[in-house]
Amino acid sequence: MKKIAILGSTGSIGTQTVDILPSIEAEITALTTFHRIDLLEKQARALHPKMVCAVDEAAAKDLKTKLADTDIEVLAGEDGLVTCAAASGADTVVTAVVGMVGLKPTLAAIDAGCDIALANKETLVCAGKLVMDRAREKHVKILPVDSEHSAIFQCVQAAGGNPLAKIILTASGGPFFGKTAAEMRSVTLEQALQHPNWSMGNKITIDSATMMNKGLELIEAMWLYDMPQEDIEIVIHRESIIHSAIEFADGAVLAQLGVPDMRLPIQYALTYPARLPCKAERLNLAKAGSFSFYEPDETAFPSIRLARSAAAGRGNLGAVLSGANEAAVAAFLAGDIAFYEIAERVEKALLDVRFVKEPTLSDILESDREARVRAVNG
Ligand code: NDP
Ligand code: MG
Repeated sequence: MKKIAILGSTGSIGTQTVDILPSIEAEITALTTFHRIDLLEKQARALHPKMVCAVDEAAAKDLKTKLADTDIEVLAGEDGLVTCAAASGADTVVTAVVGMVGLKPTLAAIDAGCDIALANKETLVCAGKLVMDRAREKHVKILPVDSEHSAIFQCVQAAGGNPLAKIILTASGGPFFGKTAAEMRSVTLEQALQHPNWSMGNKITIDSATMMNKGLELIEAMWLYDMPQEDIEIVIHRESIIHSAIEFADGAVLAQLGVPDMRLPIQYALTYPARLPCKAERLNLAKAGSFSFYEPDETAFPSIRLARSAAAGRGNLGAVLSGANEAAVAAFLAGDIAFYEIAERVEKALLDVRFVKEPTLSDILESDREARVRAVNG
């Protein structure tokens, strides 16, 4: 029986992870939230973890009162999140928190010898080299949950050990596909939150609208599959049925297809290498009809260009890109800046924050902090 800790169990990925648990044999050792304690209490009563955490300290106090009649340990703050990642007795940790806050618990889980079912892409964007080196050293697996990276992972299973010549990363194009750079200047928050194919947390929904999500995924793929960014192609595929593809030396292309439903990649990360029946709807190709493909427009969506330059430069640039983007997206969600300013703020941070070629963990945390300050101040 697998022992699983779910970090961010109250979010979009977290709740879908809980949803597939009946399909797999698993014991839950830890659950965490930021402040959605009503849902966390419900999950805790149903799944009986050893420990839970609310990162928001006031919420943790209330959660402790709610769970006083149980023997579940209630922790608080980012230290509590790290404890849930590393000391709940899990063999696999699902990292479904959003943002850079996932980095420390992920490293702690790796150090504790846990495999990682990785949804939290910001961790690899900020500290890909550190995380992948540590995972190799500790002989733990990083199993991708992100649908594109799961698709690549599934294709790699069929590669027979042959090296990849290219990765083809598909992108839905988001709600603003086809808009010109001029039209992008007047889009609203409400429009940006309407994703055509996926229902996700607010941060990644905005990242999909700017296409920074694909930029972050380019860097995620670069670290997961040890591929230079120039060998990772981004193609818009409006229907989100082909989740990504790989190309070999002879030009053959392998792709993984399915309906857009995160429960399949989540489940595969938890049952790999086995495949079990999954709740997700089955793909009916005739119903899907036709597929469309386009090159991304880097003028209307400058985030792709910014992520490529951060990927090419490596060092601390991923941390700067991710930190500035997190702060700029938060500012946009709060109504403080316009949509097009998100990329402008990120670009400014990339130019302003001091470059560090071989960053340590503390360099990465500092770069993230500085990038957020630049992004907020403009
Ligand atoms: P959500 O915003 O829906 O959920 C995030 C989870 O993390 C919630 O449990 C939330 O708690 C918690 N959280 C928020 N802020 C903090 C914090 N500061 N400290 C600790 N915990 C926190 O996000 P998603 O599920 O959409 O995304 C999670 C990760 O997975 C992201 O990195 C995203 O890029 C990635 N991902 C998501 C996909 C999706 O379909 N949603 C697809 C592929 C990747 P609370 O409920 O209290 O807010
Ligand atoms: Mg994705």
